[in-house]
Amino acid sequence: MTQATGTLYIISAPSGAGKTSLVKALLDQIETVRVSVSHTTRSMRPGEIDGVNYHFTSRETFLELVGHGDFLEHAEVFGNLYGTSQSTVEKTLAEGHDLILEIDWQGAEQVRRALPQARSIFILPPSQKDLRERLTNRGQDDSSVIDRRMAEAVSEMSHCVEYDFLVINDCFQTALEDLKAILRAGRLSFARQQDRHRTLLDALLSERVASQ
Ligand code: 5GP
Repeated sequence: MTQATGTLYIISAPSGAGKTSLVKALLDQIETVRVSVSHTTRSMRPGEIDGVNYHFTSRETFLELVGHGDFLEHAEVFGNLYGTSQSTVEKTLAEGHDLILEIDWQGAEQVRRALPQARSIFILPPSQKDLRERLTNRGQDDSSVIDRRMAEAVSEMSHCVEYDFLVINDCFQTALEDLKAILRAGRLSFARQQDRHRTLLDALLSERVASQ
């Protein structure tokens, strides 16, 4: 039996909307889901691990990878380069796993063009006030840094209209259930079900009608 190909999910959100925690919970709860580890030129933050959170690379190496056509998409976000490995995406989907790309709207645009079957999800905070609180609670940044992050967040959120699904992260559990429902619906799509239940479909659609 040939194995069903996985579905590619793009997840975007402004910083502070809770995307990373939601994706982590999804990975913990759905065994067949994988997340793509991007390449980036930004420096490592405390607690981050090379190869786990990102593949941390120099700008020079990153540009070489771009030159070799190794990225499915790549973009500059807040002054740093980020990219998704084409071969990893192909391999993971071919293995039958669903794959999540946590990327920004520019990357989402490129992936939609290359792989129109990809499904895109945008996660929004419940309000600007809530977002500001989440950005403020994060670190020791002064208010001008928070103002800049808020402006960047509003700019990112303006692209939510380009996405297939919208999830509001007001209550974490509800948002998680919403994401799980989207992934579950993907696994119930005709193409995936046809692969999984080929024998059943052959039997049900057979012209020979069973006598009992
Ligand atoms: P951070 O540096 O805070 O982890 O991520 C900053 C932004 O870069 C986020 O919006 C994140 O979604 C985006 N990003 C992370 N990896 C990629 C990637 O591979 N491609 C693109 N286009 N954006 C990415």
